[in-house]
Amino acid sequence: MSKLSNRTALVTGSSRGIGRGIAERLGRDGALVAVHYASNGEAADQTVKTIIAEGGNAFTVQAELGVPGDVDTLFDALRAGLEQHAGKVELDILVNCAGIMGGVAPEDITPEIFDRLVAVNAKAPLFIVQRMLSIMPDGGRIINVSSGLTRVANPQEIAYAMTKGAIEMIGLHYARHLGPRGITVNSVAPGVTNNGHPAFDNPEALEQMSKLSAFGRVGEPRDIADVVAFLASDDARWITGAFIDASGGSLLG
Ligand code: NAP
Repeated sequence: MSKLSNRTALVTGSSRGIGRGIAERLGRDGALVAVHYASNGEAADQTVKTIIAEGGNAFTVQAELGVPGDVDTLFDALRAGLEQHAGKVELDILVNCAGIMGGVAPEDITPEIFDRLVAVNAKAPLFIVQRMLSIMPDGGRIINVSSGLTRVANPQEIAYAMTKGAIEMIGLHYARHLGPRGITVNSVAPGVTNNGHPAFDNPEALEQMSKLSAFGRVGEPRDIADVVAFLASDDARWITGAFIDASGGSLLG
């Protein structure tokens, strides 16, 4: 029996990048995975295909986050997928991974940019957690993807880092609230991780980014996925409300 057989998982933002790596790993561990995306249906289909090719089971769920009704859209699509593929509407593992970066100089941040970052990176995850708890059995797992930028400075990402600070608070406070149900809530903070962005094909940029890690390379989605898979497993039952540095030592200074 695989570690996560008979479990269901939703990974938001798993059409690409880190989320895709997480979805693929949870699929390999035996979970039925709901692969969420906003607009890139082809990429989400590819994630599902990979999971199925590796012997797992998965389906796609579309919902643009950060817009009115986002959580309703996500929940309705997830419920339909779970009914079809699992025969019951239960979610054991929720990974909030979908997110957007800012890349805006401190002088240029506008209220509109700030509101958008908060809506996608902080508000949506909070209300996704709230809604998914209605179908999460005792012993469930919630993992929120934060960023090393809540610990090291990058002036281009002030607003983004603020939203990641906010998502970490879901872990702290919900962990206390959900302890009696055996549901754990943790934050995982990647450092620079190759998500397929063209910057990772530029040798000079790659060299600079690699220097940030104690290991002298950038992270790969599987580096983060393995940490998330551990937190999703029974082995991590005694860890809740934690901040897990998954930055390859980028926070060591
Ligand atoms: P990515 O490659 O840009 O992929 C983003 C994913 O989120 C895609 O699946 C995308 O769906 C989805 N998404 C984006 N905006 C959305 C929205 N408004 N509504 C619904 N879905 C949306 O991302 P990544 O670099 O792997 O990052 C994943 C997470 O890790 C993010 O939370 C990010 O902040 C965090 N992180 C990343 C790094 C890094 O270096 N990559 C470092 C630290 C933390 P579509 O494909 O449909 O657009």
